[in-house]
Amino acid sequence: MTDKRNLKIAIIGAGASGIMAAIKFREAGFDDLAIFEKASDLGGTWRDNRYPGITCDVPSHAYQYSFATNPNWTRMCSPGAEILAYFRGVARDHGVDSLIRYDSEITEASFDHHQWHLTSTQGDEGLFDVVVTATGVLHHPVYPDIPGRDDFEGDCFHSARWDDSVSLRGKRVGIIGTGSTAIQIVSEVIDDVASLVLFQRTAQWIWPLPNRLITDEEKELYRSDATARQAEYKRLTHRMNSNFAAAIVGENPDGYAELEQDCIDNLNTVRDPELRAKLTPDYKVGCKRLIMSNEFYEAIQKPNAALETGKIARFVPDGIELEDGTVQALDVIVLATGFNTHQFFRPMKVMGPGGRTIEEAWRQRNEGYMTVAVPGFPNWFMIGGPTSPIGNFSWLLTAETQFAYVLKLIERLQQPGVSEIVPTAAATAAFNQAVRDRIPQTIWATGCSSWYIDASGNIASWPWTFDKFEQDLKEPDWHAFETA
Ligand code: NAP
Repeated sequence: MTDKRNLKIAIIGAGASGIMAAIKFREAGFDDLAIFEKASDLGGTWRDNRYPGITCDVPSHAYQYSFATNPNWTRMCSPGAEILAYFRGVARDHGVDSLIRYDSEITEASFDHHQWHLTSTQGDEGLFDVVVTATGVLHHPVYPDIPGRDDFEGDCFHSARWDDSVSLRGKRVGIIGTGSTAIQIVSEVIDDVASLVLFQRTAQWIWPLPNRLITDEEKELYRSDATARQAEYKRLTHRMNSNFAAAIVGENPDGYAELEQDCIDNLNTVRDPELRAKLTPDYKVGCKRLIMSNEFYEAIQKPNAALETGKIARFVPDGIELEDGTVQALDVIVLATGFNTHQFFRPMKVMGPGGRTIEEAWRQRNEGYMTVAVPGFPNWFMIGGPTSPIGNFSWLLTAETQFAYVLKLIERLQQPGVSEIVPTAAATAAFNQAVRDRIPQTIWATGCSSWYIDASGNIASWPWTFDKFEQDLKEPDWHAFETA
């Protein structure tokens, strides 16, 4: 151990992936670590999203780290505040919260003489042997390209920038968007508001996920029996990845048929045929990220709820005007219009050896090798890089799988005479060709718009099963990497 080079490591992002990376680095014996966080708190998406009704629609006993299973989850799918508290607790208990440098957004990274030089909004951050980006996927809010937003005289904000000073109680509320976020908000606030108009551009398939309380007996069992806790984690992650997500990518036809039927049956619970027709999607189940809710159809059928499918023309001082000239008068407008999921760690300026930028490397499309590294950018690793399993796959297990693979690459840098490791252009080209060959067979390519698709029409998710992802990332193919 003593002759191994100690590496200076920068982790960018103190969300779920960055916290996990720091813990795992420590476990592997690396102690020269810094976590750079652009905000003044940790938690990533669970810090940013505080909208009413926020819940993780992945069961809590699967949406947690494999190494820190929590016996105390209160619901099958727990609320956002509980999840944020979990990440805070794990960071504190593992002593990695003290490594976080808050309010330090890395703005520039340039590689020279085997090291990355980082600059943040705080100034020069010095040299690092390795950079791991853990910057998440859903964190650059998209504001709709609807004219006149500043003309609206009420309150208007993005769902991920919730204005806590605004109460919805007794108000006329408009929500733009019908993704997972909007569906959760509608279900939560409908009984509080005077009226609610949901502006739907595209109908969504909704899978009826019940969200029951976890009983005291179950919690007691999980507290007293770590094996039972681990077994539940394994059972649920397997069910999600090997059954559910496999159905989505076309590898479990029976599972897919069942899923499709569940969604149709759920839709058929909507009593008014006209409303049901408006809520019926014209694309296949799973083409967009599948929404999970047992409550939305009941909420949208309440007397104070309305589904508006007319095209929005503009914001006007007292609400939203549709293309047919009608105006929906509103006090508050929530923009549940999603995120730019193709930016990755940008707008950070990243320059590899010789000054080649990531913008140049990704001019055509975002591409990496095995979801974690990019040719021409040595010692630069990504948790959640291009082609990562996203959407209805289990994000935390994805991140752990990627990190374990990245760690093996980084350990190579500890060997004498090795200062750089980078994937070859040939291996990267072959990997991405295989992705492109496979994508047309996936459900995401069956004709819908979604956040999986980038501005050039490329579908960004891992197009095979999660089992294959785990298999492919078990051990690096060392022929695919060059060292210097
Ligand atoms: P989203 O799924 O991207 O949905 C954005 C919505 O806004 C879509 O309905 C979109 O319509 C609509 N929209 C965008 N621009 C518009 C415009 N100019 N006019 C009218 N409508 C417009 O975003 P999200 O709901 O925030 O969810 C994003 C992802 O976050 C989810 O897919 C999920 O991965 C994650 N999430 C997870 C949970 C959870 O419980 N685990 C909860 C919330 C979010 P089109 O469909 O027509 O584009």
